[in-house]
Amino acid sequence: MADRTAVYPGTFDPITLGHLDIIQRGSRLVDRLVIGVTTNPSKEPMFTVAERLAMVQREIAGMANVKVVEFDSLLMDFAEREGAAMILRGLRAVADFEYEYQMAGMNQQLNDRIETVFLMADASLQPIASRLVKEIARYGGCIAPFVTPAVAADVGAKLPAR
Ligand code: ADP
Repeated sequence: MADRTAVYPGTFDPITLGHLDIIQRGSRLVDRLVIGVTTNPSKEPMFTVAERLAMVQREIAGMANVKVVEFDSLLMDFAEREGAAMILRGLRAVADFEYEYQMAGMNQQLNDRIETVFLMADASLQPIASRLVKEIARYGGCIAPFVTPAVAADVGAKLPAR
């Protein structure tokens, strides 16, 4: 059987311990995991694509079958280009479900050969969201429980000195 590839798309603004847990779990299920960092300007990210790419690259340095690339196209076209059999997504609370359900449904209509597979992070990491990490940091809160020390430093460097 051909090598099994999954793509894990997201904004990763910034990459959190929740993302990293999904990446570790996903990498054990497939031969090759390709993380796709979306440009997604509509989300007005804190970090540029190049910065987000570099942060993910640094965090996955020890993982042999994981790589990261940038993409700015339809997810299904990106997955097809990578030869992926599946799209990996993380599911947190019920709040994620409706959006993920709708996206998986529409992607299935665009390309029925690629499955969307959902994983759950470790229970302690499930509440983590990049959006809240940034919000906590902006108000001077400690983000150490949610991101690696290197990412915490990167977020700190983006904020005006308090
Ligand atoms: P997007 O902008 O596509 O939502 P994100 O970078 O926010 O991208 O997240 C990428 C994927 O990782 C999504 O499937 C999201 O649900 C999942 N994810 C993010 N944080 C967690 C977490 N703490 N636990 C499980 N899945 C998560």
